[in-house]
Amino acid sequence: MSFELLGLRVDLLRAVATQRYARPTPIQIQAIPEILAGHDLLAGAQTGTGKTAAFVLPLLQRLSEKGHPQRHPRALILTPTRELAAQVGERVRAYGLHLSLRSGVVFGGVGMQPQVNQLQRGVDVLIATPGRLLDHAGRRTVDLSRVEILVLDEADRMLDMGFIHDIRRILRLLPERRQNLLFSATYSDDIRRLADGLLNRPKHVEVARRNTAAETVTQAAHPVDKGRKRELLAHLFHREGWHQVLVFTRTKAGANRLAEHLGREGIAAAAIHGNKSQSARARALDDFKRGSVRALVATDIAARGLDIANLPQVVNFELPNVAEDYVHRIGRTGRAGTGGHALSLVSHDERGLLHGIQRLLRKEIALAPVDGFAPSLVPPETEADPSLGGQRGARVSGRPAQKTARPGAAKPARRPYSDRRGRGFPSDLGKR
Ligand code: AMP
Repeated sequence: MSFELLGLRVDLLRAVATQRYARPTPIQIQAIPEILAGHDLLAGAQTGTGKTAAFVLPLLQRLSEKGHPQRHPRALILTPTRELAAQVGERVRAYGLHLSLRSGVVFGGVGMQPQVNQLQRGVDVLIATPGRLLDHAGRRTVDLSRVEILVLDEADRMLDMGFIHDIRRILRLLPERRQNLLFSATYSDDIRRLADGLLNRPKHVEVARRNTAAETVTQAAHPVDKGRKRELLAHLFHREGWHQVLVFTRTKAGANRLAEHLGREGIAAAAIHGNKSQSARARALDDFKRGSVRALVATDIAARGLDIANLPQVVNFELPNVAEDYVHRIGRTGRAGTGGHALSLVSHDERGLLHGIQRLLRKEIALAPVDGFAPSLVPPETEADPSLGGQRGARVSGRPAQKTARPGAAKPARRPYSDRRGRGFPSDLGKR
């Protein structure tokens, strides 16, 4: 299958060629023709599947085919977070390189005025987070009455973040007749209700989740104080009699220190990471495979592509910052249907990362303390999700919106990120 066969016009094909995409992804193959044909769409796809291009390319084509550029948004893309809004905005600009459509991004935490100026100059495609969009609507700096295409991107995340009321308020500002596209990684009752009320005889498309952990891997986690992780790991080696464990750390220096510590505890260990020569890494791996090294301590990058037959145990000494890396890590064990175990040592400051991983996997990983190593701090129930913090200013349609947000300008999240996990798309989704 090629992009040409999907019916995209030549100026979009040129933009795709610039991106060096060899062929469309499954979600693009399924979604693009349906959107081009003007159907509403319910799409089950998560980040990494190429979902953004799956809606942006046909959306741009439809806008450029009918109507002329005007001052009011003709397509509205709602996203749960500022980062995603900025990312989608960047994709819209990249794919729309050879079209005369204008796009703009609005999200909270930065000044209103540059966004107001942008909106006044006129945008055809508006990418927005719900709260800030409503702020603009309330001040009448945006007119949504001529939106022809609405996209809810990562709709499940928007619902998890408590945006349902904002979304409903926004829907009331849109014209009745429009094309609606709903993208969601999961399909919960809430999403089904939203879709039922929003979509008009939608086409259903779905692609397999990429980030599924092997069924054969059991996962466990121990809460522990950060300063006692090394001690706990050595304790587990002794208690469990582990003979071959791949241990992940976040940093090269951390990998070295941990390997040295384990060595002092009588556990033969070696570290592999990018600062080690190829021959030193090969030797460490060899020793590990032969059994003379019991603990191989690795960073994520060093562990990519390691293939160790029948590796029984993986330990996350520190959780990765990116949830997908967790899946890669634990995928080192339980290969080819053999059973494997993955254990994470989770300090208080990593609880948010654990929530993110659970969300991605749609699976709970119970935190079970080890006798004598229970953390000294009882963490509060509502812990901020790191995915909501630390957001930086971004660009609005190619121009810097505002380099630094005013102190206190960033609004707190409406509700803490909920821990609730959506359910998978029902297998009969396409048959409804
Ligand atoms: P998304 O799922 O939209 O977040 O996209 C994930 C990544 O895939 C982005 O970096 C896109 O640039 C890239 N991508 C999208 N479509 C394709 C394609 N057809 N071939 C290769 N990469 C793609």
